Amino acid sequence: FNHWVDVQMAPPDKILGLSELYVKDPNPKKVNLGVGAYRDEEGKPWILPSVKEAERKLVVEGLEKDKEYVPILGSGPYNSAVQKFIFGHDEFGKKLIAEKRIVSAQTISGTGSLRVIAELLNKFYSVKKCYMSAPTWPNHLNVFRDAGVEPAAYPYYDLDTNSLDIENLLATLNKAEKGALILLHSSCHNPTGLDATSEQWDQILEVITKRELFPIVDMAYQGFATGDPIKDLGIVIHKMTKMHYENPEKLPSFALCQSFAKNMGLYGERTGSVFLVHESPEFISKITSQLKALVRPMYSSPPCHGSKIVEVILNDEKLYKSWLGDVAKITNRLNEVRSGLYDNLDHSLRNWDHLKRQKGMFSYTGLSKDEMLKLRSDFSIYGTDDGRFSLAGISNRNVKYVAEAVNAVVK
Ligand code: PMP
Repeated sequence: FNHWVDVQMAPPDKILGLSELYVKDPNPKKVNLGVGAYRDEEGKPWILPSVKEAERKLVVEGLEKDKEYVPILGSGPYNSAVQKFIFGHDEFGKKLIAEKRIVSAQTISGTGSLRVIAELLNKFYSVKKCYMSAPTWPNHLNVFRDAGVEPAAYPYYDLDTNSLDIENLLATLNKAEKGALILLHSSCHNPTGLDATSEQWDQILEVITKRELFPIVDMAYQGFATGDPIKDLGIVIHKMTKMHYENPEKLPSFALCQSFAKNMGLYGERTGSVFLVHESPEFISKITSQLKALVRPMYSSPPCHGSKIVEVILNDEKLYKSWLGDVAKITNRLNEVRSGLYDNLDHSLRNWDHLKRQKGMFSYTGLSKDEMLKLRSDFSIYGTDDGRFSLAGISNRNVKYVAEAVNAVVK
């Protein structure tokens, strides 16, 4: 007997599919510019020295006492350390912590954080529509759609000028359904690497308040814009905590989805958090209880190893400094690679100045799908069809090869 209903092949994940093609390619010069995971100068994954030291403390010094389940919304010490780390550097954030106006929950990294907030909003928020930048990280659409929230687009990147399409962005938001959700990338926008300026954020936030939108800030690359995680919080988090605290009627609540995958290199440890800010501590208690009710039947509780690493790093002054050094090192290398690529590109063929304006792990080159396919077939250089390069795949060893290949395909 067969009780299955018509199961077809699901479309493969584009980025992971690209890695498979890369692995199969016998060309010794091949370059993987697909996956957004940091690689060192030798092209190898990098365990941050601060993370290794935290693990040594957990195991050798016995800071890790057990492998018991953590509570449904995560480890208490982790949640308070991360809340302080994210909100405790700004005067309004400090007040929000003191007044218990923030829900903090440990989640299964950034994706889990987005999914949990999307599920919560689907259950308890009246407008089930979320505006997202075009383009955005493709999984954003899946996460929200699968949680019952309809994705909608706001213009973001102008491919003709390789700059932020601020006029159309504001025009679209100005017509957005009242009360809709809006997803914002806090810094190092994926895939474009292009962030709004402080003035542009002000304009965006003004429309958000006008249309009563609910902002969900996705912070997956905290630290990679300036090299300093605290400075990276600056623009959007500071502006939002201030606006919310001073004028809660303008911005009654917002959410923040945070991940330690990239900035601590804890990819597979699945360590992140979701925060929800609201003016009423009573509402915060209710939301906390509803989050528990939501998570318990989904995955019961988050994993414990990554959160212990984060806890040790954030609570140990010396280790915290050493981690900041590691983040700066990652950012410096990515910036060096970006400059190296820029310097080796032929500027008589095309204007590449936008590469210098972009931040973080990605470079949105503006190369067409045909050009990306040519890079793949003729040079074994694997980037996504939309022209995005993950700069982590480039180093001093291959930067010339990549730039010369680009010069050849755009000729
Ligand atoms: N948001 C964005 C914009 C991302 O690029 C990523 C990772 N590629 C994530 C969220 C989630 O990452 P993770 O679940 O590994 O923390």
